[in-house]
Amino acid sequence: MPAVESNVLSFPDARRLVEEYALTLSPTPAEMLPLLDASGLVLAEDLRADRDFPPFPRATRDGFAIRSSDGITTPAALRCVGEIKAGATPEQAAIVVRQGECVEIMTGGSVPRGADAVVMIEYTDRSGDIITIRRAVTAGENIVAKGSEARRDDILVARGTRLHHAVIAIAAAIGRPELAVSRRPRVAILATGDEVVDINLQPGPNEIRNSNSYSLAAQVQNAGGEPMILPVAPDDAGELALLLRKGLEADLLLITGGVSMGKYDLVEQVLASFGANIFFTGAKIQPGKPIVFGEVKAAGRSTPLFGLPGNPVSTMVTFQLFAQPVIDALSGAKPQALTFAKATLKSEFTTRTGLTRFLPGRLGGTHDAPEVEWLRWQGSGDLMAASRANCYIVVPPDRERFAAGESISILLP
Ligand code: AMP
Ligand code: MG
Repeated sequence: MPAVESNVLSFPDARRLVEEYALTLSPTPAEMLPLLDASGLVLAEDLRADRDFPPFPRATRDGFAIRSSDGITTPAALRCVGEIKAGATPEQAAIVVRQGECVEIMTGGSVPRGADAVVMIEYTDRSGDIITIRRAVTAGENIVAKGSEARRDDILVARGTRLHHAVIAIAAAIGRPELAVSRRPRVAILATGDEVVDINLQPGPNEIRNSNSYSLAAQVQNAGGEPMILPVAPDDAGELALLLRKGLEADLLLITGGVSMGKYDLVEQVLASFGANIFFTGAKIQPGKPIVFGEVKAAGRSTPLFGLPGNPVSTMVTFQLFAQPVIDALSGAKPQALTFAKATLKSEFTTRTGLTRFLPGRLGGTHDAPEVEWLRWQGSGDLMAASRANCYIVVPPDRERFAAGESISILLP
């Protein structure tokens, strides 16, 4: 078996390399999907305004539409000549406001011709048809002008945008029950290890169930990919090779386990025997140091792949740090930057220097005083600590001690 040269990068270098590689990938082909099925996927078309937004001058308050020149000096008494509700009838839409007049109008109503301001109902008194305006108005007050949010044919959302709920709202607002999106990239997931058994089987006393394939599949789904879970590969070069070949048919291959320094960690050697380009064999991080990133070129196409460390928390962290941008790119989106924030550390802790650490944390506190708690853990195999975490505390490689009350970086999901 060919040996693989070790190439361990700092966290920023490893991340940059993955992002640069991701930019060279082509997106999957586009397909039309019903609006809600497209949620979380990436637009393969620009969304254009089918008309002006708003399509009419929109009242933003319940009150009275007036000519602002009638409301400069207050109190002013105006005669109410009609009513306009949201979704006005043709008769209501035909109303014109003349000097000395006003029209009762509801939020979302179309401001009638002649009027150029809406006085909030709170600043008026009514006596029959006579409305007294108690507070002076200015032109344009409480009105969103026609076309002021967007003009017909403007690009509202560009191709390459991931469809989150606000973008779904825009698609709905321009009358698009179906959208062109890049097909979910197929992500093969291959767990390795003689001790790892399928979740439908009863593990022996020294065996464990395959949890990594499922945590990864859930992460792949959330990232907009389509997971394909392969059977668990034993620590045997021949069988591993067969399953790796199968996995390389996907758009991306994620392998877990078998990438450490142990005698039976065979993934890199088998990949090398396929002529894989290995870009790095590790990153100076904890958890997740033995992460492998590479690609295999075969039959005119190349498949990117990650060998993720088998420890369950390492698998999760390295997916987020490194695999996510590749799924973004395969989906037609620019790789999303990682989301870091600052929070106040609740209690002190110490670590050793040398690695960038991503430790399970629990972000809480209040809206103006976010606090993060370091969750004690048994190391990178501790699924229970990971399940209580909602962020990672990011520890730079040159710091050992952190005091309670310090501001510290966190990585959000
Ligand atoms: P490895 O990276 O193969 O050396 O595995 C590191 C640790 O992760 C070992 O304790 C393995 O038993 C565990 N592990 C490996 N693969 C899985 C898996 N698919 N599900 C749960 N734990 C695993
Ligand atoms: Mg193993």
